[in-house]
Amino acid sequence: MPASPGGRRLIGAVLLLLALLAPVRAAPADAAGAVRIGVLAFLGAEAASGEWSPVLRRLQAALPGRPVSLVQLDHGGLHDAAAAGDIDFLITNPGHYVELEAELGASRILTLDPGPPRAPERAIGSTVIVKAGNGALRTLADLRGRRIAVVSTDVFGGFQTIWRELAAQGIDPQRDFAELKIVGLPMTGVFDAVARGEADAGFVRGCLLESRDAWRTAFTVLGARNEPDYPCATSTRLYPDWPLATLRHTPPALAKEVAVALLAMSTARDGMEWAVPADYQSVHEMFRELQTGPYAYLREPTLMALAERYWRWIAAFALLLAAWILYTVRVEHLVHARTAELRAALAAREALEARIRANQEQADHLARLSVLGELSGTLAHELNQPLATIANYAQSLIRRSDNGRLTDAAVREASGEIAGQAERAGGILGRIRGFARKRATVRERVAPGALAADAVALFRGMLANAPEVAVDDTLPADAVVEVDPLQIQQVLLNLLKNGYDAARGLPRERQRLAVRIDEGKGDNAGHACIAVRDHGSGLDAAARERLFEPFFTTKPDGLGLGLSICRTIAEAHLGRLTVDGADGGPGCEFVLSLPLGAPASASPESPTDHAAHR
Ligand code: ADP
Repeated sequence: MPASPGGRRLIGAVLLLLALLAPVRAAPADAAGAVRIGVLAFLGAEAASGEWSPVLRRLQAALPGRPVSLVQLDHGGLHDAAAAGDIDFLITNPGHYVELEAELGASRILTLDPGPPRAPERAIGSTVIVKAGNGALRTLADLRGRRIAVVSTDVFGGFQTIWRELAAQGIDPQRDFAELKIVGLPMTGVFDAVARGEADAGFVRGCLLESRDAWRTAFTVLGARNEPDYPCATSTRLYPDWPLATLRHTPPALAKEVAVALLAMSTARDGMEWAVPADYQSVHEMFRELQTGPYAYLREPTLMALAERYWRWIAAFALLLAAWILYTVRVEHLVHARTAELRAALAAREALEARIRANQEQADHLARLSVLGELSGTLAHELNQPLATIANYAQSLIRRSDNGRLTDAAVREASGEIAGQAERAGGILGRIRGFARKRATVRERVAPGALAADAVALFRGMLANAPEVAVDDTLPADAVVEVDPLQIQQVLLNLLKNGYDAARGLPRERQRLAVRIDEGKGDNAGHACIAVRDHGSGLDAAARERLFEPFFTTKPDGLGLGLSICRTIAEAHLGRLTVDGADGGPGCEFVLSLPLGAPASASPESPTDHAAHR
């Protein structure tokens, strides 16, 4: 700022007093003719009034009859007064002006002219000072991590302009300094702080260093730039000088009068000179770069800004996502392929199982026919007996009729016998037909005792002189197994027939068979066990080894398939078929175990029901 001559300072002080006494909310200029100029008092109100008193004098001279006053305000006060319409003009630093221009429509009409060699648009620079001889600090980049003294972070020359240069070095004053020491006004305090070693460097406005010889020698400038036509050392680019601006409500005619009056000032006469408004684009650029002032909104995170800032993370995330998607797609593909393979394998397995089932049913059927075949020799004899009895009774009836001795009682008795014998023969044939029938596997809930009773009835019905078969059922009445009754009957019939074969030709006493039905223990716990015991030849170790092998037989007419099929049937029912040596005696015991099912809510079927089913 141009220095005012000493005499004028006194007048300035008087005018300031007048200005301070004037009410802040004076009537608008148009109404009362008063003209109010707001001034940024960055050095304090007194200094400001002294500094700007030439303006006041000049305007008072140019606008006779109109009271002109200067109002010294700080940043916030000037903003509020402009917003409220309490002032008609304002004079402030370039940074603050650009903010008010953007927010309140302040419009510069003049720029202070510092006089040669400085041009109005290249008038303000800032200086970073360090103690002379401080070898550790050579460039602005060396300021990182240091203690810095500043007047305030609001000042244009002395902070904001230096901030721009630091930002170009990647330094953020709020983050990258060890300490940002705010010393407050006056700015000479910055020199003092650096001189006392309280700060490693200080920020001051341009040309302040050169104003005292002692400072010139005690301090050096960091990052000094070569700026032509600038008479002082500067660490920053140069910016235009302070503007005088109108506000939206300022009457244009008044603005014109003021501009004309101030343009007529000269340094020689008034100690101050004004020029036509300078270009403040460089200040805009500074704020835009720093994303502060009117460009603070640029700091708000936009998608682009976020993308630019976090692109590495975003790229890494995108890569991960892509990898994950690839992995998922691949896994999905593999799962599909594997599922298709499994389905195909399952279908093949089901087809195979169906074939095995069909073969098994066929084998079962053949085995049943085989058992029947083996028993059929005696079957003919067995059927012969009722048929002979029937024939006898029929002939006896004929004879009595011929003799005239046919009484009602005799007819009734003979007919009863004939019917009884025919029924017996029919029963035998019915059971055999049912047993020999070819049919698909089923599952029914049946009492084990009922199965055994059916098998014993079939066995005894097919043999003349069938041995005695004692059945001992100790299972609870509601115990059931879920089985194919015909297949289980086939197993039991096989066991009974094998027992009968083993005792053939032995004394009658040895031919008797026993069936014991009880709940299994140990390995057979939870199973119903049906044990068929004989007192025949028994098993030697070799026979016991190979007993369940297909085609193992010791009988001249045997097929050797019976026990192997019986075991397959037991296992298909999740049961087992085992053999035990007879306890302390001849013969042996075959045990068929079948898993016990939960008792049915309805009562289990009776043996007779089964016979009826068949
Ligand atoms: P098959 O009766 O046609 O010989 P099985 O598979 O039913 O076929 O029996 C195989 C063999 O096991 C019989 O030939 C016999 O030697 C032996 N066997 C089966 N049951 C008994 C038994 N209760 N006592 C002695 N040997 C038996």
